[in-house]
Amino acid sequence: MSEPNFWAVIPAAGLGRRMGGERPKQYLELEGRPVIDHAVERMLLHPRLDGLVIALRDDDAWWAGTEFADHPDLVRVAGGAERCDSVLNALEQLARRAHAEDWVLVHDAARPCVRRDDITRLVDCLRDDPVGGLLGVPVHDTIKRVCADGRVGSTVPREALWRAFTPQMFRLGMLREALRAALAAGVAVTDEASAMEWAGHAPRMVEGHADNIKITRAGDLDLAAFLLSKQGGRLY
Ligand code: C5P
Repeated sequence: MSEPNFWAVIPAAGLGRRMGGERPKQYLELEGRPVIDHAVERMLLHPRLDGLVIALRDDDAWWAGTEFADHPDLVRVAGGAERCDSVLNALEQLARRAHAEDWVLVHDAARPCVRRDDITRLVDCLRDDPVGGLLGVPVHDTIKRVCADGRVGSTVPREALWRAFTPQMFRLGMLREALRAALAAGVAVTDEASAMEWAGHAPRMVEGHADNIKITRAGDLDLAAFLLSKQGGRLY
């Protein structure tokens, strides 16, 4: 078989309600550009990746004004009701021109700080893996299970606990099958790895850096700006 290609998929059809405000969080300004431009740049211009499919809401009023809207290596598809629907739409589009053995790296539009070297490490660690996997970091805080009354019920052993980030990298055919089956069964999947786990696979965890934060709440933008400044400005 010929060498597989590596495709990026960015689900960007969320409304980001937890941020408040009138525009989705991926279009809020971060260091002079919308959040989404940082995330798209890091995937689209990464030398190991061959092209990008982005899932957007049909009524998206902001994408057309962003930096990579007309990039020739980028294809737009319609988003879905949930993140997993948006990802599946992108995979269905990719499946028309890509091979089932090709790799897909799914990355949240709301993670603008992912390091170029972490993407490279993910690809290098997983390119010969039978399943694929994801970037993450081990949990260092003590973890508490809290009851409905706000009191601590127990302390959860944190050995073996990791925070799951994106990109998450799987074979196009396997991931498409896993997501289709999980959605058909009504299983709630919040990331690609959980669909693969549900299908009986064991994704590999690849250690990345904790600055790969997801913009979720208002204060996250200031933190992301600080993290980007520490990374030394534009990557490309
Ligand atoms: O809301 P959350 O932070 O979990 O969203 C993660 C990513 O999934 C974001 O990039 C968001 O735009 C995307 N998303 C999507 N379609 C949805 C919901 C979320 O593409 N229906």
